[in-house]
Amino acid sequence: MANVIGLCKNSSTENSIKASNGLTDVLIDVLLLSGSALAESDDEKEFVVWLAEREQNVRGIGNVDFSIDEMPWTKSNFQSEKCFMIQIIESAEKRLEWDKLGYTPNEELIIYILDRFKRLVMLMTEDKIREDERERWLKGAEAEDPVNCGFPRCRKCNSLLSCFGCKICGEYKQGYNLYT
Ligand SMILES: [Zn+2]
Repeated sequence: MANVIGLCKNSSTENSIKASNGLTDVLIDVLLLSGSALAESDDEKEFVVWLAEREQNVRGIGNVDFSIDEMPWTKSNFQSEKCFMIQIIESAEKRLEWDKLGYTPNEELIIYILDRFKRLVMLMTEDKIREDERERWLKGAEAEDPVNCGFPRCRKCNSLLSCFGCKICGEYKQGYNLYT
């Protein structure tokens, strides 16, 4: 089984990436690590937390298909959001915080997939933004979820927590209040 990451929901194969479950997981991990290190504004943290929620251990293996246009883009801040996304991808390519991974990724594969992912993000344009997706995502968050609680971080690894907990340490929901 595999996950498909597309530019838009029904993108052509040219504008989508098919990644094995394991590779998808590594992609999210390295983006979460570099994003956690670099995110400063709440807007930037939203992107990192959104990515961290693509969690196969919770959502099911092979069940985290997503598209770039459903990320929490805003029309008012689109250019800086896009710059931030490219910055965290490029920092992941430079192996920022990889020492925090509890495993050794296949470097060739992950660098390849990061590059493909970067190309998709670069194709994102303002007219493709679906702000209703962001609203739906934020409305669906519970009061105690990280997006509503000042974006807490894991005390062990400093990653931004998602509503499921820390993806890097594998500490799930019931534990995450312990780390804030
Ligand atoms: Zn952690």
